Amino acid sequence: MKNRRAIAVLFFLLILSFIIAPSPTNAWGDEGHRWINRAAAEKMPDDMPAFFKLASARLSFLGPEPDRWRDRIELYRALNEAQSPDHFIDIDKPENFQSLPDNRYLYSEWLRASGKDPKDIGFLPYSILEGYQRIQVLFRMWRDPRNSSERDQIEQNIIYYAGVLGHYVADGAQPLHTTIHFDGWSSSTNPDLFTREHLHSRFESEYVRSQIKPEDFSPQVKPARKLNDVFADTMKFLFDSNSQVAELYRLEKTARWDQNNRNAQSKQFVTARLAAGAQMLANLWYTAWTDSAAVQGQ
Ligand SMILES: [Zn+2]
Repeated sequence: MKNRRAIAVLFFLLILSFIIAPSPTNAWGDEGHRWINRAAAEKMPDDMPAFFKLASARLSFLGPEPDRWRDRIELYRALNEAQSPDHFIDIDKPENFQSLPDNRYLYSEWLRASGKDPKDIGFLPYSILEGYQRIQVLFRMWRDPRNSSERDQIEQNIIYYAGVLGHYVADGAQPLHTTIHFDGWSSSTNPDLFTREHLHSRFESEYVRSQIKPEDFSPQVKPARKLNDVFADTMKFLFDSNSQVAELYRLEKTARWDQNNRNAQSKQFVTARLAAGAQMLANLWYTAWTDSAAVQGQ
């Protein structure tokens, strides 16, 4: 009887471990997303509103928020299906993704016309652009004296959406979220003999959790600066990330991406990507704020 009970408990724990196991496609894992949001929040220039500069703890908590919507248990299937493609863009060749339209429906039409399913290719540039526009709309409201009695509400929404935007920007800094080779080399040509084994989760979660600390990359992040063309700069950021894919696979050959990897080059590679994500995010937040003044009165 006792044995049967022990077996039942073990079985329950086994099931629980499946339920709470991190999803293999959560870019940067929980830690990396929190760190990127916090590092960006710490780089806000003095002319950023004080409420925003004081919100780094909440912004950090919100870093993993969209991954919380990706729980793959049946109960949340509708939610998972609806927004999973917002976390990546499968760029095959960068030249095929030049001059994209600036909204997701025109982009979807373009993909369908070439026989591709948009939900397989991903919407990452648009989740970033739409998130940016959401916070700019709110910054405009915040500046408008007619809304002064509701400023508190507006501030809460700005922080929420800014934190969520951070998630997608951080995903974009993870090279495997910008490529068809997102979890093992996937094309028939493979001249460098890159691994076809799964490495996505090992790279972004296992390695980052065990070998990286936020202070390894945060000093590389510079104070935020204003962007000139948000969508073009977002695409450039995603192409830069995509250009690191081969190097990531090369490093896997030198030192496997896992918790025991103590290779200095591997660490340098990952800290540079985390810093790139935090930098782009800081720039987007700051640009949303500064450009919200120009839109005023239109
Ligand atoms: Zn994600």
